[in-house]
Amino acid sequence: MGRIVEFSSRTLSAIAAEAAGTPDREVCGLLFGAPARVTGHISCRNVAAMPATRFEIDPGALIAAYRAERTGGPRLIGCYHSHPSGDPVPSPRDAADAATDGWLWLIVGRAEIRGWRVVAGGAWHERFDPVDLASIAPA
Ligand SMILES: [Zn+2]
Repeated sequence: MGRIVEFSSRTLSAIAAEAAGTPDREVCGLLFGAPARVTGHISCRNVAAMPATRFEIDPGALIAAYRAERTGGPRLIGCYHSHPSGDPVPSPRDAADAATDGWLWLIVGRAEIRGWRVVAGGAWHERFDPVDLASIAPA
């Protein structure tokens, strides 16, 4: 799996705008496409008990996305969330919560978006490897 992930520029700017407009809590959502080419996203409810410092994607949205994928919908390949007062790097909590190997995580912090791949023994908290994001024009 390569280190460069292509992203729809529309998806990147929408996620950046959502995070910038929500400084009081972490925003979160799901990413769709292929492992090295993200073509879409949906914003989800953050159902964490402490949304200022944690995120938990609405389980109903996750189930719906998996169900849609099984019936021919877009492939679910990762998630995104924001760190309203932190850097765009995975926290120890993020590493503990990263359940799905190969998933792409986008993290927004300090007006910057960075990409991470969930891998066993990764360089970051032994759970994430950094990936480079390449913006592509919307399809
Ligand atoms: Zn986090």
